[in-house]
Amino acid sequence: MKNWKDERIFNQNMPKRIDYPNVPVGAVMKGSAERFPDRDAYIYHDQRIKYKEIYRESLRFANALRKMGVGKGTVISTHLPTCPQYIVAFYGIALSGATYSPINPYMPENDVIYQLNNSDTTIVITNESLAHVIQNIYSDTKLEKVIVTGDQEMFSNDHPIDMRHYEENWYSFAELKGASTEEEFDAGIDPQNDLVQIAYTGGTTGRPKGVMVTHANLVNSILQNTAWGYAALPKELDNGGIILEEVEKDKDRYLSEYSSLIGTGILLSPSPLFHVSGVFGSIMYPIILGFTTILIDRFIPDKFLEDIEKYQVTHISGAPAMWNVLCRHPDVKKYNFDSIRNVGSGSAPLIKEEMKLLMKTFPNATVGEGYGLTEATSSVSSTVPFRSGLRKLGSVGHPLYDTEVKIVSSDGESEEALPVGKSGEICVKGPQVMKGYYKNPEETKEVLKDGWLHTGDIGVLDEDGFLTIVDRKKDMLIYNGYNVYPTRLEEILFQHPSVVNAAVIGKPSPRVGEIPKAFVVLNPNQPVSEKELMEFVNNRIVHYSKIREVEFVKELPLTPAGKILKRVLRDQEKKKLEVM
Ligand code: AMP
Repeated sequence: MKNWKDERIFNQNMPKRIDYPNVPVGAVMKGSAERFPDRDAYIYHDQRIKYKEIYRESLRFANALRKMGVGKGTVISTHLPTCPQYIVAFYGIALSGATYSPINPYMPENDVIYQLNNSDTTIVITNESLAHVIQNIYSDTKLEKVIVTGDQEMFSNDHPIDMRHYEENWYSFAELKGASTEEEFDAGIDPQNDLVQIAYTGGTTGRPKGVMVTHANLVNSILQNTAWGYAALPKELDNGGIILEEVEKDKDRYLSEYSSLIGTGILLSPSPLFHVSGVFGSIMYPIILGFTTILIDRFIPDKFLEDIEKYQVTHISGAPAMWNVLCRHPDVKKYNFDSIRNVGSGSAPLIKEEMKLLMKTFPNATVGEGYGLTEATSSVSSTVPFRSGLRKLGSVGHPLYDTEVKIVSSDGESEEALPVGKSGEICVKGPQVMKGYYKNPEETKEVLKDGWLHTGDIGVLDEDGFLTIVDRKKDMLIYNGYNVYPTRLEEILFQHPSVVNAAVIGKPSPRVGEIPKAFVVLNPNQPVSEKELMEFVNNRIVHYSKIREVEFVKELPLTPAGKILKRVLRDQEKKKLEVM
C-alpha cells in the first residue's frame, strides 16, 4: 500500500476498522438497558433514573406516538430545556421511526416558526414554562399536535399536569405514556436511509438549514468515537440491541485502564441537548458507554465544581469558554479532582496555554480535544487517551477511524488534495457524513462534492496525520462556545433605515473566544446611536448572538468586486489586541 502522504488523503485505502451494525438508533438504548439495567443512566436535581426506566419510558412514548398514527415520515420537534424528559422524547421518537428535530428553546418566535415550517414539523414537544411560545405561533405553523410536559412529569405514573388551559389537540406527556404500553415493536426503519434527525445549523453560509442525519450516521458516529477513545467495538445482541464489548487488538497503545470506565464512568456536561454536542455527548455516547450522566440545565461554575466532588465525576466535557472560567475560579484549589479521568473539549478552538492549564488543574485526567460539525453528525477528529507521546498540543488529533480527510485549496477552485503541511479547506468523507440539507439541494451541492464534505474550516495535516485547525473560511464566529452567524445579524442591521452598509466579525477575546462586533456605514441624514442600533438588532435575536460592539466607519474595505473584506477588519482587531 502506498504511504498516505503520497496520496495526500488521510485514511484513504485503509482497511475498514469497524464493522458497523446495520441497526437503528434505538438499538443503542436497548443494548444498554439490557446490559446495565439497574445502573443510573441520568441524575437530574438528585432524581435518579435507571437504564431500564429510561428504556421503558421511551418505549411507552414510542407506543403512544404509534397509537397517534406517527411513524416514518413524521417530523417531531423538541422545544425543551435540558431535562430527563428530553432523553425519553429523543429515544421515543427514534424508536417510533419518526424524525427528531431539536429547537433551541431560547430562540425568538420568528426563528422557531421558520424552523418548524422548514422541517415540516407536525408535532412539537414543549414544557409548561415554554408553552406560551408555541401557543403564540401555532397558527403560523403546520403543527397538528402539541405535547406538553411538566417539570415533575418524568415517569408515566407521575401526576400529569393540568391540561385544562390547553386546546384539545394538546396532550400531556405523562398521560400519553401512562395510557400506553411497553412492548417493543418493529418500526420498519431502514438505518441507511431513514432520518433520525434534522438538526439546524448555519453551516458555511449562515442561513439556517436542516442537516439530514440518518440512523446509521448517528450510530456510526458514536461507534467511531468509542473505538477510538475506548478501544471498544460493537457487538449485536440476539434481541437487536448493541453493546460495546471486544477490545481492539492494539489496546496496548491506550492507557490500559481506560476501557474499564465502560459501565462505571460518571459524566458531567453542560452541553445543550438541542445542539449536536448534546445529542452526541449527553444522549448517545454516555448511553452506549454505560455512564451515569449528571444532567444540568446551565453551566454555573460554583455548582459545577461542587458537583464534581459530590458525584465523584470521572468525565467532564465542554467548550473552551467554560474551561477559561473554571480553571481560573477563585475556589478551584478547594476541590479535589482526583476522580476526573477525562476532560473533553470541543466546539471551538482550545489554545495550547488553555490545554496546559487544564492538564494542571485536572492532573489525573487525560485532556482531549475533538473537532467536528453538525454536517458530520458530530465528530471528525479527536485526540485519544493514547500514551502522551502520541499527541501534539494545539492539534485536534487524528481523523477518526474510517474517516478520510483531505485539505484542498481554500479558494474553492480545485478538489485536488494539497500536500502534507499545506493549509486549506478541510474536507471529510466517512460514514458519519450527513445525507444533505433538508429540501435544499443547492446548498447541499455546495458542500457535498463527490461524497466529500467541505467543512468551511481551514486546517493542515502534518506528516504524522495530526490535524490542526488554523482558521475559518465560513462566515461564523464562536462567542462563549456558541456559534454566531454574522449574515443573520447583518440582515437585521440592513433593516434599519440608518444603515447603508454593515459587516459583523468576531473580535478576538481571550475570555470568550470572539465577540460579535459590527462595523457600520451610516446614512448621514439619519443618525442613530450605537446603543440604539445594538438594541434594534439584539431584541430580534437569541441572547448569545447579540452584537456587543458597534463601530461607525466611513467605508468598509471591499474587493474590486465589491465584496466586503472581513479579513481586513478581523486583522485590524487582532492587531489592536496584540498592542494592548
Ligand atoms: P457546529 O456545526 O455547531 O457543531 O459547529 C461546527 C464548527 O465549530 C466547526 O465547523 C468549526 O468551525 C468549529 N469547531 C468545532 N470544534 C472545534 C475545535 N475543536 N477547534 C476549532 N473549531 C472547532
